Amino acid sequence: MSDKVLEIRNLNVTFPSLERNVHAIRNCTLHVNRGEILGLVGESGSGKSVTSMAALGLLGSSARVKGNIRVVGREIIDRSEAELQEIRGRKVAMIFQNPFTALNPFFQVGRQVMDALLNSHFMSKEEARKRVFQAFKDVRLPDPEIAFNRYPHQMSGGQLQRVMIAMALVCEPELLIADEPTTALDVTVQAQIILLLRELVAKKNLSILFITHDLGVVAALCDRVAVMYAGMVVESGPVVDVLATPSHPYTSALMKTVP
Ligand code: ADP
Ligand code: MG
Repeated sequence: MSDKVLEIRNLNVTFPSLERNVHAIRNCTLHVNRGEILGLVGESGSGKSVTSMAALGLLGSSARVKGNIRVVGREIIDRSEAELQEIRGRKVAMIFQNPFTALNPFFQVGRQVMDALLNSHFMSKEEARKRVFQAFKDVRLPDPEIAFNRYPHQMSGGQLQRVMIAMALVCEPELLIADEPTTALDVTVQAQIILLLRELVAKKNLSILFITHDLGVVAALCDRVAVMYAGMVVESGPVVDVLATPSHPYTSALMKTVP
């Protein structure tokens, strides 16, 4: 088994259009080792989300994608939709900034997590329900039984993000891609989610690509960090090294924004 759960090499992404070609990602190379949390930082528009969408094969036909991306040993670029579905369902999960947009307001959250599990794994409804309860316990929702029957609007932002983490974990992925999952939360809830993610990495066979524009969060959570600027990774290494002696001017500038 490879010790790398995500390997991106020389990734280039362009969005061709009649007016102008947007060259969003330029020769991006990064990896996530098994069992670690890699922070991907950079200002808005630097290419973090496009990189993560490429890693999941989610960019669609409007994007031109070149390079190599391996998720748990499986090549992503130029795969059929059926193959991508299979990889997404079993190897990798994703959580986003706003959990509301990922949930259907008309269905109870327990049912939605159960459906996600049943879509990618063959098992009985009873078994699925049991696993969802366990996942709700794993993410420390105060009362899994009550949470199961709640509608999205009946939960706080922090609780909903826990539901999304449960939805991601219930399929037992090896890689979790988290795109600014704490940005919309207030600081105390943010700290709780960070603690939870650390705990899950220690307990489960999980590795995380954690996208943020916040170096403070990187310092609290991540093992290594990659800094993106204008579609390129300009610097990467262990968090302690990069924060102590940044080698790229952009990283130094970014550090001045940390209180
Ligand atoms: P970040 O997540 O770091 O804020 P993004 O990855 O979302 O940045 O965007 C990187 C660049 O790619 C930006 O210039 C953005 O405008 C461009 N971009 C992203 N998605 C598209 C798209 N579907 N079509 C055209 N340009 C896009
Ligand atoms: Mg983004």
